[in-house]
Amino acid sequence: MNSIFDTLESSVRSYCRSWPVVFTHANAATQITEDGTEYLDFFSGAGALNYGHNNPALSAPLLEYLASGAVVHSLDMMTPAKREFLETFQDLILKPRHLDYKVMFPGPTGTNTVEAALKLARKVTGRQHILSFTNAFHGMTLGSLSVTGNSLKRRGAGIPLTNSSKIPYDDYFDGSVADFMWLERVLEDSGSGVDKPAAVIVETVQGEGGLRAARTEWLRGLAALLKRHDILLIVDDVQAGCGRTGTFFSFEDAGIEPDIVCVSKSISGYGLPMALTLFRPDLDVWEPGEHNGTFRGNNPAFVTATAALRTYWADGEFQRQLGGKIDTLHRGLEQIAGTVPGAGVRGRGLLAGIVFPDLESASAVAAEAFANGLLVETSGPEDEVIKIMPPLTVTDEELTRGLDILAAAVRSAVGSPELASA
Ligand SMILES: *Cc1c(COP(=O)(O)O)cnc(C)c1O
Repeated sequence: MNSIFDTLESSVRSYCRSWPVVFTHANAATQITEDGTEYLDFFSGAGALNYGHNNPALSAPLLEYLASGAVVHSLDMMTPAKREFLETFQDLILKPRHLDYKVMFPGPTGTNTVEAALKLARKVTGRQHILSFTNAFHGMTLGSLSVTGNSLKRRGAGIPLTNSSKIPYDDYFDGSVADFMWLERVLEDSGSGVDKPAAVIVETVQGEGGLRAARTEWLRGLAALLKRHDILLIVDDVQAGCGRTGTFFSFEDAGIEPDIVCVSKSISGYGLPMALTLFRPDLDVWEPGEHNGTFRGNNPAFVTATAALRTYWADGEFQRQLGGKIDTLHRGLEQIAGTVPGAGVRGRGLLAGIVFPDLESASAVAAEAFANGLLVETSGPEDEVIKIMPPLTVTDEELTRGLDILAAAVRSAVGSPELASA
């Protein structure tokens, strides 16, 4: 190709290298290219499109809002759109879950909410150190990178990433080491030389880092340990939140209450930039204007976010249906993984995939799936996991069709004998 994308756009671009087509239209779980080819989208904007592309329940109020002459950009000024979002978030999300959080609007991206969380944790505790986990991904700005695992992304910082250390995520040692053995010991030992951290930041499912999912008892153990030592728990729910794992917040099943929660990707529900940092009211020690950002008041995003909450989270019906889709996906993935020796299913909810025993298969499967009309990406430090992330609104027919394409892609790319003879 010798298009403007190649000649003018920076070589930093990545997704378009795996999917070298020009997408023009999209609807629900389908994307269409300039030449009319349809793709089933099991990528969902990396988790920003949990309710599918151009969802009419969200686009209708958005179009009405834009046509009405209402305020679009407002920094942190008050608007009816923001009021409605806050009221709806309080009534449909926080109250029913008995969560007492203040809501902060940082800049509108995932890394913005992580930066705000780290800054707040340091300000509240007066400590500098932050602990994060092996294979974590928290974003690309310097603070977020400092708590991210991936060595390629860390190298991109170009300066030392300091004031943080990595600790092993759940099952890092394949069950051969007791959970938190090292952390518990060094926190109790005044001679350990490990500075007491301000906070620990964790993803309940590692979206970019290989789809490892923490067990609920591990998360509870972590929360209890940190509470005993007066260390803040930050859950980065940027990717796993907004219903992706089967509940609105990904930590609900574990029954924990993080001190700080980072939300972004699918909170606007429409792919519009928006982020929230939620924290315990007693942690709200910000001075006015101490942390700000030009695009905190993205009113079209408030409108679609409110519509998404009202459409999908006003009662338990959506979550109930989601449970069925999660079962179907995991059954399908188990079946496919069972045909490849050494492969296994990873993840939780509709944030799941298959880890292959070698470093080539997942990329080969993703390429083969693309050739057959399915968009799926890879995850993990060596791209060793195929990642399946359909919209939460995916139909049963689409789910089955996507799994069939995936099974065929595995069959042809990995050459699994059992499926070939089936
Ligand atoms: C995507 C992601 C981020 C970063 O979000 P951006 O909007 O890309 O800055 C942070 N944390 C997690 C868990 C993510 O998946």
